[in-house]
Amino acid sequence: MPENAMPYYSLNNFFKNKFGQKVIKLSLDGGFTCPNRDGKISRTGCIFCSKNGSGDFAAKRTQSIAEQIESQKAFLSKKWQKALYIAYFQAFTNTYAPVEVLESKYLEAVSQKDIVGLDIATRPDCIDENVVSLLSKISKKTYVCVELGLQTSNEKTAEIINRGYKNIVFENAVKLLNSAGIDTVCHIILNLPGEHYHDMLNSVQFACLCGIKGIKLQMLNILKGTPLAQMYLKEPFKLFTLDEYTDIITDLIEYIPENVVIHRLTGDGPKDILIEPMWILNKRLVLNTINRKIKEKNIIQGRHLAE
Ligand code: SF4
Repeated sequence: MPENAMPYYSLNNFFKNKFGQKVIKLSLDGGFTCPNRDGKISRTGCIFCSKNGSGDFAAKRTQSIAEQIESQKAFLSKKWQKALYIAYFQAFTNTYAPVEVLESKYLEAVSQKDIVGLDIATRPDCIDENVVSLLSKISKKTYVCVELGLQTSNEKTAEIINRGYKNIVFENAVKLLNSAGIDTVCHIILNLPGEHYHDMLNSVQFACLCGIKGIKLQMLNILKGTPLAQMYLKEPFKLFTLDEYTDIITDLIEYIPENVVIHRLTGDGPKDILIEPMWILNKRLVLNTINRKIKEKNIIQGRHLAE
């Protein structure tokens, strides 16, 4: 396992190994839309996606990229005086625009002071050779990674959540990014409608086999104004308790290869629009519970792969 004091390879450790100090991600809104919302694929979007395109913590899109970075740095530097930053294009689909537009936004971001990398959240069906060639060019000068929302590898669930692409598209996107030396981080949501433990385990294993370099796991959030909220309020389905979620998370860690960076084990629920589950708002409790169970169960990342 890479130099690491914890039983799993956390994002903080990855940043410390790579940059030698504290690095913070700044959530940006590049002003993009999404083919799953603008009608190219559908108009409804993934059923869990909020009106902010899953960028509820991103800065304001009315500001320029430089302004967004400046205002977030000003806020964060009160707590971390000596941090470096990654520009994280988070809201909507951040490779869904002509390459010249992408280039100008990305370059604006990476040219700001103390920015040491670029992190781009997008859909795998919006990764093509032109995008990869642009990212590859930028990666010669700064760290670049791409986050892809897989959510599940169960094709039936993918239809239920209106993901809008097949698993093979994800697989090919990861291949293309890997061939250009760009790190790929995969998002997986636990407790999607109709899914059982084996579906979540399959999703983690599928993503890892595709060759991802990082993973983000999070509990399903039911947010106001989403198709999922309508579905849930009409016909509520069982949501994990904190105890159930943290049991599953700690089990899954043992199926993640030790060199895959675990970026997230729980998310930040957007409080003002969250319907359920309310326990995710207490992030400290969720993380403390995960850490306690890791110790109690003697969890080690990748253990089941070594057996
Ligand atoms: S791909 Fe992302 S932005 Fe688009 S609808 Fe799905 S979650 Fe929302």
